[in-house]
Amino acid sequence: MGVAAIPFVQARNFTKGRSSHIDVLVIHTMESPEKPSTAEDVASWFAGSSAPQASAHYCIDGNTVVQCVQDSDVAWHAPGANHNGLGFEHAGKAAQTAHDWSDDYSLKCLELSARLVARKCKEYDIPVVWLHAADLRAGKRGITGHVQVSEAFRKSDHSDPGKAFPLQAYLRSVRKHLGDDFVPANEHRSLQKAQSQNPTLKAGARGFQVKRLQQLLAQRGFKPGSADGVFGPNTTAAVKKAQAAHGLEADGIAGPLTWQALLAA
Ligand SMILES: [Zn+2]
Repeated sequence: MGVAAIPFVQARNFTKGRSSHIDVLVIHTMESPEKPSTAEDVASWFAGSSAPQASAHYCIDGNTVVQCVQDSDVAWHAPGANHNGLGFEHAGKAAQTAHDWSDDYSLKCLELSARLVARKCKEYDIPVVWLHAADLRAGKRGITGHVQVSEAFRKSDHSDPGKAFPLQAYLRSVRKHLGDDFVPANEHRSLQKAQSQNPTLKAGARGFQVKRLQQLLAQRGFKPGSADGVFGPNTTAAVKKAQAAHGLEADGIAGPLTWQALLAA
């Protein structure tokens, strides 16, 4: 696949670092008109002084893809699936009809998107399957929409990309772009996200898994301070206390033995 470099405009609001694997690719519409500069305009809005409390990894219109957040950082696009998701914003609106989705502009936008999403499926070993809310709740990996994330985790009420989004044609296009790299879902190595995904965490780590660790430490009475998802000195001290209490080496690094002790306690 010949791939042009994707321009990058850093969004203002995002979370630095990521403590989970990427499991889901989340499709959105920008609720913006179909203009040649829509991706650039929304990227500028995400980056500017009036940026919303939101961001996405990629903005896509009829002729351009702009990246706004690095894949290794967490964008704020679909609460419940941010920590393990990538967000793709498309020019257009959730209220579009099937006819609207099949105009020349939308077809070009979907083509650019499918090519990019195919690359990400390959890069992160993600099956080309559409996930419904129950699949997301069950921890399955694949492609989904903001509306499914809303339904699964009830942390937002957005309904994009809308009922008329041409789902089957889009998935076919992603498979086509994967070409020889396409792996049928039932032959996929990692259809399900790891159930006990407990990464080794230490000072400086951030994100969802740090918050999980802090909540666990608090439940066990080791007082890590607020569960803010930032592994600072209070978290290190709490991990050392927990390790000492369980007869482990008190190095302040939460590895497999520390997780095991906390989860079993
Ligand atoms: Zn959305």
